[in-house]
Amino acid sequence: MNQKEDYIEYIKSWIRPLQKSLTLETEANFINILGNEKFFNEYLNISLGNLNGLNLKKEFEDKFKAFSIKYEKYNSLDISQRKRLVIDTRKILFKLGKSIDSSDNTNTFINNKNTLRPTSLNLKSDISNIFGVGKNLTYKLNKLGLFNINDLINYFPRTYLDYSCREKIINLRADNLYTCVGNIKRFYIYKSKNNINLSVMNIVIFDETSSIKVTKFFIGKRFRSYSFFLSQKEKFKPGIKIAISGKVKSTDYGKTFIDPQIEIINNNEDYNFTGKILPIYSLSDSITNANFIKIISKVLACASNYPDILNENQLMNLSLFSISDSLINIHLPTSKSSLEESKKRLVFNELLLLQLKFAIKRNERKKSSLKKISSINKSLLNDFLNNIPFSLTNSQKDVLEEIKLDLIKGSPMSRLLQGDVGSGKTIIAIASLLLIVQEGYQGALMVPTEVLAEQHFKNLINNLNPLTITVDLLTGNTSQKKRKNILSNLANGQINILVGTHALFEEKVLFNSLGLVVIDEQHRFGVNQRNRLLKKGQSTHLLSMTATPIPRTLALAIYGDLDVSKITELPPGRVPVLTKIIKENNLPELFNIVEVEISKGKQAYVILPLIEDSEKLNLNSAIKVYDYLSKKIYPQFKVGLLHGKLSSQEKNKILDLFESNEINILVSTTVIEVGIDVPNASIMMIYNSERFGLSQLHQLRGRVGRDSYKSYCYLITSENNPLTNSRLQVLQNSNDGFYIAEKDLELRGPGQILGCKQSGLPDFVLENLPENKILIDKAKDEAFEILKKDPELEGFPTLKNILFGKTSNKFIHEFLN
Ligand code: ADP
Ligand code: MG
Repeated sequence: MNQKEDYIEYIKSWIRPLQKSLTLETEANFINILGNEKFFNEYLNISLGNLNGLNLKKEFEDKFKAFSIKYEKYNSLDISQRKRLVIDTRKILFKLGKSIDSSDNTNTFINNKNTLRPTSLNLKSDISNIFGVGKNLTYKLNKLGLFNINDLINYFPRTYLDYSCREKIINLRADNLYTCVGNIKRFYIYKSKNNINLSVMNIVIFDETSSIKVTKFFIGKRFRSYSFFLSQKEKFKPGIKIAISGKVKSTDYGKTFIDPQIEIINNNEDYNFTGKILPIYSLSDSITNANFIKIISKVLACASNYPDILNENQLMNLSLFSISDSLINIHLPTSKSSLEESKKRLVFNELLLLQLKFAIKRNERKKSSLKKISSINKSLLNDFLNNIPFSLTNSQKDVLEEIKLDLIKGSPMSRLLQGDVGSGKTIIAIASLLLIVQEGYQGALMVPTEVLAEQHFKNLINNLNPLTITVDLLTGNTSQKKRKNILSNLANGQINILVGTHALFEEKVLFNSLGLVVIDEQHRFGVNQRNRLLKKGQSTHLLSMTATPIPRTLALAIYGDLDVSKITELPPGRVPVLTKIIKENNLPELFNIVEVEISKGKQAYVILPLIEDSEKLNLNSAIKVYDYLSKKIYPQFKVGLLHGKLSSQEKNKILDLFESNEINILVSTTVIEVGIDVPNASIMMIYNSERFGLSQLHQLRGRVGRDSYKSYCYLITSENNPLTNSRLQVLQNSNDGFYIAEKDLELRGPGQILGCKQSGLPDFVLENLPENKILIDKAKDEAFEILKKDPELEGFPTLKNILFGKTSNKFIHEFLN
């Protein structure tokens, strides 16, 4: 960290506890709270009175001294005077915080708001209006999805290179990033002999401590011309002062800067990227990063008046950057701390909008009147419960009670049901559907795969009395004729329960009186999809189910609008699945063990990451392993093959045969990952298990251990890498889906595991979810606060416009519209 940043951090760490105490005092209604040792007023009196070493500007010093004296007499002030004083103090502290961030700007020139190049463009201007952006460049930018200035401003860097670490030459260490300022001692440039496209420039620079070589590469024929060489020679004359930013490598010639940023420094040292944090964008098609930065800096002035959803007061209370400062700093950060603050603000924006959206939705749903179900008549449910060969676990009973309570409340239920794999969620889904059908409504059960839809459908038909209830199945593969029939019976109310896949969202699917939507494996669906289905009824109850347990923080961020129920126990008599990591060369042994089990009448799954062999990936494929097992290893058994490329009839046939144990061993891709329920299967073998996420492996493992028979899960891998091993060991040592999901979250980040790409949260929120937890809470509180004070959002025009209007704002995800 350089001195400037140290200083900023020092001041900020002085401001923070003061702001905190002011917040606490405000929350306590100005009673002069007692801290650990001192009263609030004493603490403020002392802290603001002693400014030694802070090196503040006079205007701040004077103000704080004056406040300090006032705090001495705090006890004799009335509440409104105290309030005034606290507010004033906060304001000045906030101003100080902002001023040191922008004083930071004075040395770093692009990013200083005042020095942003003025422009006649506005956010809606087409990029072709930017000076220097011609037809060609416009086309390339369009291809990146960038059409107007607003698009550009919302195209955030992928990452940053921190060149802000300025050092003397003598202190440079290999393999680190530095910025050095020095004078040119020697210059030479030559054409590479080995590469006809390459020219190499070497400079030696020196400062008062030492000297170092700087090598820069130029790729392209035009950089081999005499005139180019001459122009460089002219530019880098001996004696000229330059700044170098980049990586130092150790070479045969000693330490060398390899291909760094080079900038000529004028006397006033207002240099560009050297010494800065350099944004790196995801680009393609020969737009260079430097070029893109140039374009961005031409239009960034347009961000200065970016409409902010928060007002000054909120910004101050929440200690957040304004949106325009954040947008400017996210592109051209002046310091690490300003970059962090900017990210924080942008994340907060996302979170606040999301939480507001949740809150509004929830309020709307609460208001919408549903024909009140006075007492739940349970005969359908009781028939069903008497029909199944077991009784519900206590946990299942509890959850069912919660659902019943929701249903008689008179406002639509929004409930998320979490329960580990095999905990018996399907029964709860069916029970809830029956409760609603009993009241004369229709129910929909939506699942992510056709295979699972088929299974649920059969489950319903087998356990329900066809005379009293009509169930049907609609998937993407339903024939036109059948589909037409279903749609008309759905619209006239003859179908009571419709099971299906994504086909259910389609516009033409209209219900007569949709009362409940159940979504199984809900993390596979986007919020948008869920809402589309809900809209098919007037005020529809929602039950979302998932076996992928969601850590609390994430649940709050993504499903802030749902109440949560949990099934906390597995049905009785379940024996934990024994899990073992198996190296590929020990497979013969494993095959013997499996043979014994199959001979006893049990069944096995064999899971592979690929359908067919692929040239690029050295992985086992389903087709190859199927051939090998069926011909070489287990000719005496019936081996089946299942994968996504089969038609639905073929898939169903194979699954039926597996269910009736006419297929003993099912070789499959992950099409069976979720939901499939064949309790007689007791062996799960997963090839290339290192390729799968932990939660996914846990799901796959959940296909076995579905009765009281001992089951086994074999995680096959050919890798010896300790990291892989420790990952797989998590599974070997735990059967707890929650624990496994937490680990998965740690190891891979949430984007991958929960399908929360579909949640609408941007990557930079998801990536640092644990750290963003505080922000999520803050956003939730703020959303609540805003709606409490101003339910119609009259005082928040920008916010209102974004949430309800047609403003196209890049921060707003599709489902917010
Ligand atoms: P999941 O929660 O993974 O969807 P399922 O609903 O598929 O679990 O249930 C797993 C298996 O447990 C099924 O075979 C189901 O019939 C059975 N099951 C569910 N509830 C009970 C119970 N209370 N007692 C015994 N078996 C049960
Ligand atoms: Mg299930």
